[in-house]
Amino acid sequence: MVVSCEEVWREISNYLDGEVDPARRAAMEEHFRACKHCTAVLDGMRNVVQLYGDERMVEVPLGFSHRLQQRLEENIVPARRTFLGWAVAAAATALVAGSVEFARSSASGRPERRSAHAKPGNGVPPEMMVVVATDGKIFHVPRCPFIHDKARLRTITAREAMQEGYAPCVRCMKKYLST
Ligand SMILES: [Zn+2]
Ligand SMILES: [Zn+2]
Repeated sequence: MVVSCEEVWREISNYLDGEVDPARRAAMEEHFRACKHCTAVLDGMRNVVQLYGDERMVEVPLGFSHRLQQRLEENIVPARRTFLGWAVAAAATALVAGSVEFARSSASGRPERRSAHAKPGNGVPPEMMVVVATDGKIFHVPRCPFIHDKARLRTITAREAMQEGYAPCVRCMKKYLST
């Protein structure tokens, strides 16, 4: 059995509860070995489950907590499933985005430029609003005709763009770049 990342995310709360059948469980373990993203999601979900299931989070008298737990198991489990399903999707998105950013910036302790050949943007006014594409390496003035990926643009300050490792566009930022 081969499972996709989406199937893994759908089943991950059942997996953590030990409620998937052995064949699927084996397939998911196989997937976790090969897929870093799903492993990260699994770790994240474990934390969520631990937080959520941690009785210290619930300030109730001893003795009541046992009944509370029973009620949770009887009544709130379906809601918890929904919550976890939602949390998985959110965690997956955040982790995938976060791990990429982390990999980019952790190597040297300061942000690496996304493009090794780009010039540093030292002359660019730090408060100037610039446009970056989420998958790109370059920041532009908002009207630059050389913005390639117009689908996912963000407008941030030049300082933020440089902190995130974007390099200035050599065309529209030309006047700010020392050669
Ligand atoms: Zn995966
Ligand atoms: Zn440009």
